[in-house]
Amino acid sequence: MNRLSVELSEAAVVSNLAAVRRLVGPDTVLMGVVKADAYGHGLVPFSRLLVRHGVGHLAVAHAEEAFRLREAGIDVPVLVLGHVAAADLPGLIRSGVRQTVYAESQARALSRAATALGRPARVHLEFDTGLCRYGLDPADTDALARITALDDLVVEGLCTHLSGTAPELVDEQLARFDVACRAATALLGRRPARHVLASPGIAAGLHRRTAMEMVRPGILLYGLGPSHSPALLPDLPEFRPVLSMTSRIEQLRQVPAGTPVGYGASWTPARPAVVATVPVGFADGLPKALGGRGRVLVGGVRVPVVGQVGMGHLNVDVTRVPRAATGDEVVLLGDRPGQRLGVQEWADAAGTINTEVLVRLAPATPRTVRQLPYSTEQERCA
Ligand SMILES: *Cc1c(COP(=O)(O)O)cnc(C)c1O
Repeated sequence: MNRLSVELSEAAVVSNLAAVRRLVGPDTVLMGVVKADAYGHGLVPFSRLLVRHGVGHLAVAHAEEAFRLREAGIDVPVLVLGHVAAADLPGLIRSGVRQTVYAESQARALSRAATALGRPARVHLEFDTGLCRYGLDPADTDALARITALDDLVVEGLCTHLSGTAPELVDEQLARFDVACRAATALLGRRPARHVLASPGIAAGLHRRTAMEMVRPGILLYGLGPSHSPALLPDLPEFRPVLSMTSRIEQLRQVPAGTPVGYGASWTPARPAVVATVPVGFADGLPKALGGRGRVLVGGVRVPVVGQVGMGHLNVDVTRVPRAATGDEVVLLGDRPGQRLGVQEWADAAGTINTEVLVRLAPATPRTVRQLPYSTEQERCA
C-alpha cells in the first residue's frame, strides 16, 4: 500500500488536448508548455503523454529541462523559453534544441557557437510588445536586420507574450507584434511560425482574432483554468484535471469532546470525534494553509482537515464517515463519483494560484500514469 501516490490520467490528457484543439482549430500547431517539471506533473511522463497523442512541439524554461527530455529519448522540437548559460549553448545546438532569442547579444553568441560547431542554431525571436519582460524591440528594424543576417542562425519562429486578455491591451500588443512579423518576413524572404497565445488567450477565444500558426498552452493541458484567472476555463466537459493524489488512513482515534488535537492544540472537538491520521504533509507539497481549511475525500464524503498540517502528517475529522477504517483511501486531489477535489480549492485555501500549488508538489513522489486501455506500450515513469 502506497503511503502517497500521484497519478496522471492519460484519458484526461487526451481529453484536454481535444478541448484545446477544438478551441484553436485543427490547423494550429500546439507547442505544449512543460516547464517547471511539467507544472509539477513530472517532465518526462507528462511530455511522453503529449507526444504520444500528437503534440509535436514542447517548450521548457531552462536548458537542463531540454537535456532531460533528450536523455529520455523525446526527440520532438523543444524550445527553451528562458535564459541559457553560455556553457549550455553547444549542447543545445547539438541536440537540436530551439532557443528563444530576446537580445541581440544572445543572437550573436548563438551564431558564434553554431559556426564553431558547424551546425545551425534554430531560434524563435521574441518581441516585447507590452509585457515588459524579455524581448526585442519590435520597432527596432535595424537590430532585426543585423540578427537575421547572422551566420548559422535559422529563425524558425516569431513570438510574443501577452500581459493579459483585455481587448485594448491585446490589440496594442498584436499591432506591435505585426510590425515585427512583417519586418522579419521581409528580411528573411519567408514567414516563420508566429505564436502569441498561452492558456489565458486561448481560453478567452483570442485565437479567433489572431489566427497564428502556433499556440503555447500550458495550464489548460493539465486540465485547469488560467492561473491568474481560473474562471476563464472554458465550460467544456473535456477539460479534466490530469493529476490526482491519494493516500491512506494510517490510524483512527476516538477523541473525547474537549480534547485538543495536534500541534499547538489548534483544534478541539466540541463533541466526541473520530480523527484519522494520514501520513502526508507539507513535505509532500500540501499547502500548510490547508490546516483547518482544506477538505479531503474519505468514503466519498468531504471531510475537513483539522488542526495543523505537519511535515509528514495531517488529521482529518471522519466522524461523519461511520465505516471509515484503517487503510481506507484518502483522496487529496482527484475525482470520485459526484465529487471533485481540485488544485484550485487548495490554491484558494492557501491564498495562491493553481500553478504554485502544482509546482510545489514534491518531485520525489513518483508519478505513475494511468494508461488508456488501448495503450500497449509499457513504461516506467519516475
Ligand atoms: C509559461 C508560459 C506559457 C504557458 O502559460 P499558461 O498560461 O500556463 O498556458 C506560454 N508562453 C510562455 C512564454 C510562458 O512563459
